[in-house]
Amino acid sequence: MKSNLVIGAGALGLATAEALLRQGDDVTVLERGLVGRESSWAGGGILSPLCLWDYPDEVNRLALRGMSQFGALAETLLQSTGIDPEYNRCGMLVLPPLDMQAAMTWCTAHGVKVQQQGDGLLLPDVAQARNPRLLQALRARVEKLGGRIVEQCEVGEVVVNAGRVGHLATTQGNFSADAYIVTAGAWSKVLLGAHALKLDIKPIRGQMLLFKFDTPPLPHIVLQGDVYLIPRRDGHLLLGSTREDAGFDKSTTDEAREMLLQRGAALLPALRDRPVVKHWAGLRPASPGNIPTIGRHPQLPNLYINSGHFRYGVTMSPAAVEVLLNTMNGTPQPFDVSPYLWR
Ligand SMILES: Cc1cc2nc3c(=O)[nH]c(=O)nc-3n(C[C@H](O)[C@H](O)[C@H](O)COP(=O)(O)OP(=O)(O)OC[C@H]3O[C@@H](n4cnc5c(N)ncnc54)[C@H](O)[C@@H]3O)c2cc1C
Repeated sequence: MKSNLVIGAGALGLATAEALLRQGDDVTVLERGLVGRESSWAGGGILSPLCLWDYPDEVNRLALRGMSQFGALAETLLQSTGIDPEYNRCGMLVLPPLDMQAAMTWCTAHGVKVQQQGDGLLLPDVAQARNPRLLQALRARVEKLGGRIVEQCEVGEVVVNAGRVGHLATTQGNFSADAYIVTAGAWSKVLLGAHALKLDIKPIRGQMLLFKFDTPPLPHIVLQGDVYLIPRRDGHLLLGSTREDAGFDKSTTDEAREMLLQRGAALLPALRDRPVVKHWAGLRPASPGNIPTIGRHPQLPNLYINSGHFRYGVTMSPAAVEVLLNTMNGTPQPFDVSPYLWR
């Protein structure tokens, strides 16, 4: 049985571990803090790029495949663990400014359902998941399949011997395995040190606000520019988000709160007098062009990465895991994966 060490227990680490366990591998996940408390927890769980037509093919290839796989993943998680990730095909209404004609043409060409609604565009098949529940379900599934998760275990160094990774030096001692997979999100580059080579992943902060209504105040996700409202089934409503280059600083700011409140109330006036239930920030693993790195290290044959999914890590997760496992197993890929290679 092949043994794997997965570094980082966010959506990408847990989904990678789940797929490796399903194929019969042995898996240990090492997590610096607690499972699923970083970017994957902080995100909105929209299962689509915000405006698909604005992104390059390299992003949409992974995103569209992930979108087509997510429903089945959510169902497996629910059936296997009893925890509901609240996969909900609620649709997304995109409001102007937008190039309606270009958007319609792109959607039609790519088989994405679209309907004009007033001066906006409704994408009825866009779904959402509820991140904290998705992560709880993934964790339960990994443990049910026999995976081991070690929390409060920070990997300090990837130690190389004779052209291969020999072990990981961590705050809980050394760990070794046949294969090592970096899924440390915004921290991936720092963790790898000199082994990162030209890997370009850095943190970009996103802030969110949470509200509560008795019943969902909107039937769909509503998006205008960079600001969106995400209605959960139980009446919670998320308002996001910012995009800030603030290093590894996860603080929330009054400026962001004001900006989001103002933009949110313009979309949904009922927000004006509503108390903010919670305000948080997360660090997206940002990469140039929003294109993640998925694959084998160019010099260390037992070191892999699945990181840098920037704004769409949850959306891309099933497809990104598929690409990584095909690479590890030497099996055919569903499409050209050269844009994701570790160079
Ligand atoms: C505000 C906001 C809104 C978002 N909205 C969406 C959305 O609607 N849809 C979507 O698809 N995506 C969204 N995203 C992006 C998405 O959340 C990320 O792309 C995705 O969660 C990245 O997952 P990850 O597992 O790579 O990283 P993370 O979830 O950050 O996990 C990395 C893990 O690695 C651990 N780690 C780091 N260093 C070490 C170390 N040295 N040793 C051990 N463990 C370590 C960390 O503690 C962490 O738990 C959003 C992000 C934010 C912040």
